[in-house]
Amino acid sequence: MKVLPSIAPDRADPLEVMRRQFSHILFPLGALTFAGTRFVLGNQINLIDRHAMLPLGGLMLLLEGLLLGNVLSTKTIWKIGLSLIATYLIISLGYEVTQAEYYPGFSPTALWFPVVYLIAFSLFSPRQVLFFSSGYFLLCVAVILIGAFLSPLQSPKLNNAVMGFILANLFYIILLNIYNNLRSQYGQVHQMAHYDQLTGVANRHQIQALLAQKLPQTQDSPQNFSILLVDLDHFKQVNDKYGHAVGDRVLKDIAHLLAQHVRASDTLARWGGEEFLILAPTTDLAQAQHLGEKIQQVLSEVSLADQLRLTLSIGIASYRPDDTLATLLERADAALYRAKSLGRNRVELE
Ligand code: GH3
Ligand code: MG
Ligand code: MG
Repeated sequence: MKVLPSIAPDRADPLEVMRRQFSHILFPLGALTFAGTRFVLGNQINLIDRHAMLPLGGLMLLLEGLLLGNVLSTKTIWKIGLSLIATYLIISLGYEVTQAEYYPGFSPTALWFPVVYLIAFSLFSPRQVLFFSSGYFLLCVAVILIGAFLSPLQSPKLNNAVMGFILANLFYIILLNIYNNLRSQYGQVHQMAHYDQLTGVANRHQIQALLAQKLPQTQDSPQNFSILLVDLDHFKQVNDKYGHAVGDRVLKDIAHLLAQHVRASDTLARWGGEEFLILAPTTDLAQAQHLGEKIQQVLSEVSLADQLRLTLSIGIASYRPDDTLATLLERADAALYRAKSLGRNRVELE
């Protein structure tokens, strides 16, 4: 018996989508800001900034280049950006608390610390953000204390500005962690709204939205858009004979098997009880038939829920120029109905 691997449904991080969209603005803007600060303010900026601004600007451009060249993932590039900015800010902080230049206040650099926490929030899991932000905050406090120790002549270092800095950063971290909890809850709700609880594949709500979204795009090549309605044969008997729990396992196994055989551009969804829908947007009728027959062939070689041999019937419809979503689904349904009435374990086309 073949072992069916588990499904890893597409749980795209919405923040990843935004990161990609904003990257091409933020990196060039970062480069411009760093270089601009250096050239416009000249010697008005402190020693660290005088040395750091141009290399940082150059590195921002380099990161933008890596992004454009698809050399590294957006997330990795952002992590590199985060490391650079976090390191620069810590060095700046160390400089400011040991030099009299800005004492008893901070340079505007201090305003950038929340950016570190916010970028981390967009990159890491809730646990990692908590770990990273607390660690970074403690590092800041340690740098301030070491600064106060190293230059006691300028003490008291723990003055209004430093206390304000520490407390404000503490508040940022607490707020971030509140948002973190909300984000986890949003993730769970998003998961429930878009994926089938039992099988992990897209649910009917999600596939309907996707169908409506993709359908008009096929006007140029209408023959290359197919849907397959897949329905298990005599599934009610499985529940009746072996119980609902075995029935559920069969449904999971079927979902795994189907997921293995659709292309990356296809979407598999649970359409209803023991019925699945495959949206194959770049597949013509003949290719869809081939896919349907392949699925049947594979199913004939495996046992489901460790013990059962089952068959399924498939109704396929390919887009025609005057189709609406409703007519396309009706034709797939009619094809499935025909497959059932002609004896099941068949693929029928409309
Ligand atoms: P046909 O070959 O005509 O499709 O027959 P069938 O028995 O598969 O179809 P029918 O529509 O009569 O029965 C479908 C069954 O699917 C009935 C229902 O109990 C079962 N079912 C639907 N959803 C679930 C589920 O989530 N878990 C389990 N275990 N069974 C389910
Ligand atoms: Mg059935
Ligand atoms: Mg059915």
